[in-house]
Amino acid sequence: MIIGRFAPSPSGRMHLGNIFTALMAWLSVRSQGGKMLLRIEDLDPDRSKREYIDAIYEDLRWLGLDWDEEMPYQSQRTEIYTDYFSRLPTYPCFCTRNELHSANAPHASDGRTVYAGTCRNLSPSEYKQRTPAWRVALDDSVIEFHDGLCGKVTQNLRAEWGDFILRRSDGVYAYQLAVVCDDALGAVTQVVRGNDLLSSTPAQIWLYQQLGFQVPQFYHVPLLVAPDGRRLSKREKDLDISHLKNHMCAEELIGKLAYHAKLRNTPDPILPKDLCKDFHWNHVSRAPIVIDDNF
Ligand code: GLU
Repeated sequence: MIIGRFAPSPSGRMHLGNIFTALMAWLSVRSQGGKMLLRIEDLDPDRSKREYIDAIYEDLRWLGLDWDEEMPYQSQRTEIYTDYFSRLPTYPCFCTRNELHSANAPHASDGRTVYAGTCRNLSPSEYKQRTPAWRVALDDSVIEFHDGLCGKVTQNLRAEWGDFILRRSDGVYAYQLAVVCDDALGAVTQVVRGNDLLSSTPAQIWLYQQLGFQVPQFYHVPLLVAPDGRRLSKREKDLDISHLKNHMCAEELIGKLAYHAKLRNTPDPILPKDLCKDFHWNHVSRAPIVIDDNF
């Protein structure tokens, strides 16, 4: 059986982009008779707020996107992450933000920095008097996988990603580790999420392999863009669900979104459950979804 999930971060209200991802994850699972899980990704205590958690439940219900089970909150799973962290090859990193900035060139494609490995071979006598972050010591693996929507993806992890952080200096585990442990332990078979996470997936697959977990099927859905091609972000207040709810009912919102995403030919109101019978991944466009001002 297919087991899928939504994994929203409670760092703000849902946005049209999150709604689209949730709709796609839901349609994929429900159209194939699978099980849908909800996981609140409150890993980062500085950014997560209880009011946003409550709003996520309410907004998903309002949209008609239901779930069968809720997974444990990430903030409650530190011991589990510690256990899996201890099984991985890691080293302490004492680099400050400034040092990271000056020593590591931004990656050409998305501005992400590739860690040059400054602390990888430090001997304990070279350790600094401050609490380190912990990085994974990558090998030379080239990770290749087939994304259900984007096709073949290949990444040389050390060259294109670099030894990434698994635990921050404040003790918070990295999203990359938490998401792998949570999806694997939750027996998730299908991960549907935004295309902005496509470049993180090889690093996550490497963790799956190191920890002996089964790798799920991935589908990275297109991002929403303005007519000029600029990525729409959470800053676009008009596309925040609290604003959208004041202007339309859920059927109208889903109908317009499905139309813009080319899942339907007309923008008529429709419920998610009525989109299910015609849903197939082959019909989903890989191109960014253009949202104009009068959505
Ligand atoms: N929590 C992430 C987000 O809200 C999604 C992570 C994932 O689906 O793996 O963007």
